Amino acid sequence: MTHNKKTAIISGASRGIGRAVAVELAGEGVNISFNYLKSSNDALDLEKEINDLGVKVKSFQVDIKDYKAVKSWVDDTKELFGGIDIIINNAGIVKDKALALMAPDDWHDVINTNLDGTFNLTRAAIVGLIKQKGGAIINITSVSGIVGIPRQTNYSASKAGIIGFTKSLAREVASYNIRVNAVAPGFIETDILKELKEDYKDQLVKQIPLNRLGKSEEVAKIVKFLVSEDAGYITGQTFVIDGGLSMV
Ligand code: NAP
Repeated sequence: MTHNKKTAIISGASRGIGRAVAVELAGEGVNISFNYLKSSNDALDLEKEINDLGVKVKSFQVDIKDYKAVKSWVDDTKELFGGIDIIINNAGIVKDKALALMAPDDWHDVINTNLDGTFNLTRAAIVGLIKQKGGAIINITSVSGIVGIPRQTNYSASKAGIIGFTKSLAREVASYNIRVNAVAPGFIETDILKELKEDYKDQLVKQIPLNRLGKSEEVAKIVKFLVSEDAGYITGQTFVIDGGLSMV
């Protein structure tokens, strides 16, 4: 792995998959700038953990839905760390409900956080990558955006949108040596699954060929590979990590 003091900007790293990605990349010597919405204590804990790994780290309480705030976060990161090499669009929420019962706010909150959030961070940071003629972007999507899951029309739409965004941008910026890929987890043990009832989770696990939920660290390992030079010939792809759940 050859990262040479690169900087990664990661959305939603106070908990779950984003946190695991931050730790994994920091372990490779990558400086980390991350945001979160509410979990200040978790963000401070992560800052401490990453500091101990000997790289620079800074957390920002920034709503990923707010373009102006995201732009300031990007500008502050560039000033503090000297540039941005890796963008990880990870912040995401669910608000599951049958479409017949879904309030417009449930639709908009999920689309604005997951899809607009991916636009906001990428749009604010992409010019720097273009100018330096290099970089890697990873968008965290979901198998829900590939196969569709009932009661997740809002979430599935946001995640399918992210896959289209990934392919389109990959073609657009390939000539600047910027690679853009997506990672599509299945069911990973994080707070996002808290809403699921235990008996539903048990049923779900029975449908997963590898017979267990995934771990954030397992998702982080693919992200680490995809942003590394070992993945230098890979762009515009979506990598599924779901224990075999969505295989056809
Ligand atoms: P999580 O444990 O709930 O963590 C979500 C993270 O996003 C937190 O750091 C949270 O910050 C941040 N966040 C949420 N809304 C935000 C906003 N408006 N502005 C800034 N930050 C915000 O979720 P996770 O399971 O790790 O999910 C991470 C990504 O993986 C999401 O995009 C999710 O859709 C995707 N994914 C997860 C699974 C799964 O099974 N876990 C499966 C497929 C895809 P606070 O801590 O401050 O709230």
